Amino acid sequence: MYDIVIIGGGPAGATLARLIGNKYKVLLLERRTFQEPLYSGLQKCCGGLIAPDAQKMLASFGLGLPKSVILSPQMFSVRTIDNDNLIERYYQRHYVNIDREEFDKWLESLVPPTVDIINGSIYKSHEVHKDFVKIKFSKGNTNYEEKAKILVGADGAFSKVRRNSFPDKKAPRKYIAIQEWFDNSQNVNYYGAIFDSEITDFYSWIIPKEDILIVGSALLPNNDANKKFALLKSKLKDYGFELNKSIRKNSAYLLRPQAVKQIQIGSGRIALIGEAAGFISPSSAEGLSYAFKSALALSDALSQGFESWQDFYRKNTADLRRNIILKNLKSPFMYNRILRKIVMKSGLLSIDMNLKLPLL
Ligand SMILES: Cc1cc2nc3c(=O)[nH]c(=O)nc-3n(C[C@H](O)[C@H](O)[C@H](O)COP(=O)(O)OP(=O)(O)OC[C@H]3O[C@@H](n4cnc5c(N)ncnc54)[C@H](O)[C@@H]3O)c2cc1C
Repeated sequence: MYDIVIIGGGPAGATLARLIGNKYKVLLLERRTFQEPLYSGLQKCCGGLIAPDAQKMLASFGLGLPKSVILSPQMFSVRTIDNDNLIERYYQRHYVNIDREEFDKWLESLVPPTVDIINGSIYKSHEVHKDFVKIKFSKGNTNYEEKAKILVGADGAFSKVRRNSFPDKKAPRKYIAIQEWFDNSQNVNYYGAIFDSEITDFYSWIIPKEDILIVGSALLPNNDANKKFALLKSKLKDYGFELNKSIRKNSAYLLRPQAVKQIQIGSGRIALIGEAAGFISPSSAEGLSYAFKSALALSDALSQGFESWQDFYRKNTADLRRNIILKNLKSPFMYNRILRKIVMKSGLLSIDMNLKLPLL
């Protein structure tokens, strides 16, 4: 029997496995093999930008990124396009541009060899018994069962562990994020954020990665999502973006927690971390820092004992919940068209793109 079985080897699950792997008998089940062909659609659909909060967490773990993870261009600005008010501005930003698949592969490589990792395995269901949880999963055409004292769901936005364990609890608002990859022959060197209420009440983005330009949008998950995505592309073409050669398209659910009661940290023998718990920024959809912080919070809570982890985990994640409340309070300045117009019109903190020499 394992002490802990973790479902999902994304940033949250791989980090937890790295932090607790030498203290307990741990099994990590991850659906990806990290060898899937690039265009298989099996990679994590993500913008792959490491924001300052996530950089800070990596720093606090004593980690620096290997070269294999970093992609060009490293960008210094975000071009903010407000299509509702027809204003645009550039703001200085400090993201690190990465290959998300390589990043996840690297995080998994940091898990100590004491942890059993099964890549290419799929969690199906579990049964909670008095002294253990029985976990059912498959790999290829074979079904397996394992027992653990604690089951951790780190299986992302559409967490099956969460859905199986807490079917009646209200989950955060769900979006479908679509991303399409195009040839970046235009040499775009900034991150673009597009606010357009005709497309979504959240936002859309463009991100260059080497010779690729990713166009993405977080859309309401209804029948119109594809139409809205097509509309976004046609509006971007009007802005002069050449989106002619489509290379790849994929999608994923994205959560947008609007109240802390939508966060579900788990109970008894089931714990949730990362986006499976609902930890993600509701204003920017930045999720890596939340994945790292919740994994760290649970690793500390588990060290207090398997009976009382829940109270400690709740306490350790109080800052994360407060942060989600604050981000929701900040959201109107980004998503209310009148408030956004005032902020953007003011030009506060924006970069002047028409600087003329001499600069001194
Ligand atoms: C389109 C898009 C763009 C984004 N861009 C950014 C960004 O630029 N920067 C940022 O900080 N955040 C971004 N986010 C958010 C960020 O990707 C997530 O919040 C973050 O990945 C959450 O980490 P996690 O480990 O909790 O979950 P995930 O990264 O989703 O990892 C879950 C893992 O569980 C595995 N899994 C799922 N189900 C099973 C199963 N049944 N059996 C076995 N394994 C399973 C998956 O393969 C995956 O590896 C973006 C999200 C989306 C959708």
